[in-house]
Amino acid sequence: MTAAVFLDRDGTVVREVSYLSRLEDLEVLPGAAAALKALGDAGFQRILVTNQSGVARGFFDLAFVERVHRELRARLRQAGADLEGWYVCPHHPDWTGPCDCRKPATGLVDRAVAERGLDPARSWVVGDKRADVDLARNAGCRAGLVRTGYGRETELELAGRGALPDVVADDLAGVVEEILGP
Ligand SMILES: [Mg+2]
Ligand SMILES: [Zn+2]
Repeated sequence: MTAAVFLDRDGTVVREVSYLSRLEDLEVLPGAAAALKALGDAGFQRILVTNQSGVARGFFDLAFVERVHRELRARLRQAGADLEGWYVCPHHPDWTGPCDCRKPATGLVDRAVAERGLDPARSWVVGDKRADVDLARNAGCRAGLVRTGYGRETELELAGRGALPDVVADDLAGVVEEILGP
């Protein structure tokens, strides 16, 4: 069974812009492409898992989200990196009722694990929010927190509760360095 790194998108791989709704606002964070390349070289599947409640709220549709992800993958490929897949929760409880896939629920990871034969115990979730850290625990993965996006606020909150994740680093490159070890 293969190990994966489940990657949050906004604030982790691309700049957090609060409901990315224009392709012009898509910006891969510095060092992210090289970090994703390193994960791939080490044999990890690189899977985006992203809450996109902007769909439920009517800010954009799933076709637009798909377009963003194809563009993101194209840019990563230009840098020698890639994504093996992406899984999207388009819901929000206030608009579309409860679902089993909005992080920190495990629906997106469960689907990826079932479709791709992944091993959660050897896999990681990396993100900038409490929902990402909690997803890791709920899914039986290890957790990495980046300080990009909302990461610094999340670090303070989790430190205050004595609940810091396995790895905390300034950005995706830093977390990946820890995941891959010496
Ligand atoms: Mg995020
Ligand atoms: Zn959902």
